[in-house]
Amino acid sequence: MPGSKHIENGPAVVGRFAPTPSGPLHFGSLLAALASWLDARARSGRWLLRMEDIDPPRCPPGASDIIIRQLDAFGLYHDGVVDYQHDHDSDYQQALDTLVERGMAYPCSCSRKEWQHLGVYPGWCRQGPLHPERNYAWRLRTDVGESDICWQDRRLGHQHWSLPQLGDVVLKRRDGLWAYQLAVVVDDARQGVTDIVRGADLLDNTPWQIRLQQALGYATPEYLHLPLVIGDNGQKLSKQNLAPALPLQDSAVRPLLHEALTLLGQSPAPMLRHAPISEQLNAATKDWQPHFLCPHDVQQTTSS
Ligand code: GLU
Repeated sequence: MPGSKHIENGPAVVGRFAPTPSGPLHFGSLLAALASWLDARARSGRWLLRMEDIDPPRCPPGASDIIIRQLDAFGLYHDGVVDYQHDHDSDYQQALDTLVERGMAYPCSCSRKEWQHLGVYPGWCRQGPLHPERNYAWRLRTDVGESDICWQDRRLGHQHWSLPQLGDVVLKRRDGLWAYQLAVVVDDARQGVTDIVRGADLLDNTPWQIRLQQALGYATPEYLHLPLVIGDNGQKLSKQNLAPALPLQDSAVRPLLHEALTLLGQSPAPMLRHAPISEQLNAATKDWQPHFLCPHDVQQTTSS
């Protein structure tokens, strides 16, 4: 890899980008893709692409292909083949079976309407489904084992979360679809991911994921939760807020990549703003400094 540093004897770094293909990528997702790519490449690591398409109604046909074209346009090439969650049903089932055997998961027949006034699901079905005649979801037990989950986030520092306050998260939905929390943990372990770099909107999901790793006997990766990007309207960039799709034309991609590097605190040379993508990425890989990331959310200055 040109311009990358090789760390002697360090463990092999495996990073990943794991978008939900519910539509094209926007500038906020570019930051996550770019930071995780740089973080892996700067340490001669591998960088994997996984489509989190376990919720088919949310994933229109063709969205994964657009995402791949967008990443290519920004020079963010992945290693190996693209992984699709819809291929891994049996892996998720095996993990759920293990959790059930270990007393860490239970069937829950309650509907959201019945408990949502309480904020967090109160665990009514822990001793057996309250309504055995209904379809049921599967939930993680947060009332067994250590209640606190701690880790060192690479940007946000020491994290200390109380799991029972977050509640018994759903692992498999009542409609039979797998939930993000279980799938992401099984896949990161299956793919040997060592470093997770993603948006801070997922920070409060991490305690559940670490508990699942512990319960399934997986290693816990390093976590780095990135600042969120705030758009002109003062809101977090997201598909729901109709953030514009990333462009594919090189002339538009170049300054946008430069802006993304700037928002990641990497101070790319101003003269690189219109430089070819490979030149910008080589310089950024050589100079990657994760501790220059901003401690708070960042504002996008130009609209994509
Ligand atoms: N699929 C998730 C999303 O698009 C990201 C999952 C992750 O990075 O852990 O928000």
